[in-house]
Amino acid sequence: MDWRVKFVDYPQQWRRQRDELLPVIEDTIARGDLMLRQQLHDFEDNLARFVGSVRAVGVSNCTDGLRLLAHALDIGPGDEVVTVAHTFVATLSPFVLRGAKPVLADIGGDHLMDTEQLGELVTERTRVIIPVHLNGRTVDMHAVQKAADEVGAVVLEDAAQALGAAFERRTAGTFGLASTYSFYPAKMLGALGDAGAVLTDDVALADRLLALRDHGRVGKSDLDGWGYNCRLDNLQAAILDWRLRQLPEWIQRRRSLAARYDEMLRDLPDLQIPVGPDADQRRFDVYQNYPVTADRRDALAEHLRDDGIETLISWPVPLHRQPGLGLDHWQLPHTERLCRRVLSLPMNPELEDWQVEYVAGSIHRFFGGSGR
Ligand SMILES: *Cc1c(COP(=O)(O)O)cnc(C)c1O
Repeated sequence: MDWRVKFVDYPQQWRRQRDELLPVIEDTIARGDLMLRQQLHDFEDNLARFVGSVRAVGVSNCTDGLRLLAHALDIGPGDEVVTVAHTFVATLSPFVLRGAKPVLADIGGDHLMDTEQLGELVTERTRVIIPVHLNGRTVDMHAVQKAADEVGAVVLEDAAQALGAAFERRTAGTFGLASTYSFYPAKMLGALGDAGAVLTDDVALADRLLALRDHGRVGKSDLDGWGYNCRLDNLQAAILDWRLRQLPEWIQRRRSLAARYDEMLRDLPDLQIPVGPDADQRRFDVYQNYPVTADRRDALAEHLRDDGIETLISWPVPLHRQPGLGLDHWQLPHTERLCRRVLSLPMNPELEDWQVEYVAGSIHRFFGGSGR
């Protein structure tokens, strides 16, 4: 397929970064800095500073970050974990695989956890509440913390999609006991492969995670218990550290592209679009994704495809409708309706202005508008 607008254009990203990134890669390899070296420590320090947390622990991916947290908190059978079904399966799998029971909240109009339901969902068995800051937008963290405090549960933020987002001037990922980030290539900050991090202000927890990610090792050969191999590759850390310096600029680019989409799409009555970048005074959204909704979603996706525009449906089937996960007793009408209607438009810092205009024009033609 010859796309005019790809959903994420990795070759284009590489063309733009190659001249500056190649020396970083070359230098790291030439030094032989392959495992747990200075580049990783630097990245962890810079990431913690960027987010505003005391400590950052680099791990192999976000899912493993959650796995280490589930282990560190000794989550097990009898424990309940409250989150949403409109998320990537990895939000829940590390907890379910340890025997915990998922409890699912429905979503509100902005695709995020409907925090008003939390009061009815938490019980004395609730160990963890996991707000998912989907699409680069932060969940209402006052409501989450209040529900957690009522039953003595811990808040872990799935911030995989929200690096740099904020709620009431406080960065996503600094509210709970800990938060996890993904550096999967398509995320706000992407590696050239898998990578992730856990952030926390709890120094003892951070030290425990450092041991858990490296076979339980503390120091050269002492073990403080059983552990995993969930290290963040040093080479990926060097790449991420360079990219982290570009991130503020990329976030601004995403927000200005969102503003452009907003301007061009807001007058279409049959299409719902995300809140614009300056419309919500309580939040700073970073637009990891730009999800629109429409009744004729599948036809719209096909129309865009015919115009050479690549889109993505996240997700066509919610977790509680996946046969095999054992969650089919949940009724989540807003989640189910969204999964039938949602469509993510191309959104990444490599997008050119003309491409956003081309996408918006194609959408106008679909709905029988002027076509611009
Ligand atoms: C990407 C993602 C994950 C998993 O991240 P990995 O680094 O691929 O393990 C978890 N939760 C959400 C919401 C995500 O978008």
